[in-house]
Amino acid sequence: MKYFDQHMHTHFSYDSKEQLENYAKKTEGYLITTEHLDFKNPFINYQDNIPDYQQQSIEIEKLKVEYGDRFLRGVEVGYHPDDHDQIIAYINQHAFDLLVLSFHKDGPNEFMDENILQIYHLEKLMQEYFTLMLEGIKAFKQANILAHFDYGLRMFDVTIDQLAKHEDQLCLIFQEMIKNDMALELNSKSMYRYGNKHLYEYVIPVYQSVGGQLFSLGSDSHVASDLGLHFDESVALLHQFGVKELAVYIKQILHKVPLENPYSLI
Ligand SMILES: [Zn+2]
Ligand SMILES: [Zn+2]
Repeated sequence: MKYFDQHMHTHFSYDSKEQLENYAKKTEGYLITTEHLDFKNPFINYQDNIPDYQQQSIEIEKLKVEYGDRFLRGVEVGYHPDDHDQIIAYINQHAFDLLVLSFHKDGPNEFMDENILQIYHLEKLMQEYFTLMLEGIKAFKQANILAHFDYGLRMFDVTIDQLAKHEDQLCLIFQEMIKNDMALELNSKSMYRYGNKHLYEYVIPVYQSVGGQLFSLGSDSHVASDLGLHFDESVALLHQFGVKELAVYIKQILHKVPLENPYSLI
């Protein structure tokens, strides 16, 4: 099995209009969507974003005829303790190949809303964001991948020195992930669109120092043209740290595949 992009969105997410078929045209390998499950999303007046599972099934069945049986289904769970019961209820009622875990809000505020800059000093934000993350990982152990560990910090320009002050918190987070076979995502949007590659270069060896071995590459694409975004650079970066394999999940079972960019010949 070859690696496949484990973080992508289609029109089943509130912030994408893309058709799954457009992704299918771009690769002959497995395709997995990770649509948003975000309850009380501050970005859209605290409405719930719940993927329409039934409609997704209908679309996948149709596409299978032309593109083959290679569609998997994941979900990106935006975790907050206030939404815990609703999240668990939804996850338990639907079958997924992959659960991606994210922290998109502090409760009332989305971390990528500009008002975050007024609400928090960076130091306080990092303290609270990583506390939320540790508690969320402990409470939602079934997650397979931690997405964009830096999401909450994207609105700020964070230096490695500033992040390194939170190394103890990060180590606790990574230890908890390792206990549960949860992979660390290299998020292409964070690294190459929000300029946080340096933060990943810092955390990869920290994660490895406490025993972390599971890595995932996620483009976080919302348009088909971003499938596998900058994977060549991310593969090269992991090579530098001695990584040889990537983690993929099917029916939430961990598989290891060689570290390579499956889309590099496209
Ligand atoms: Zn996200
Ligand atoms: Zn996403």
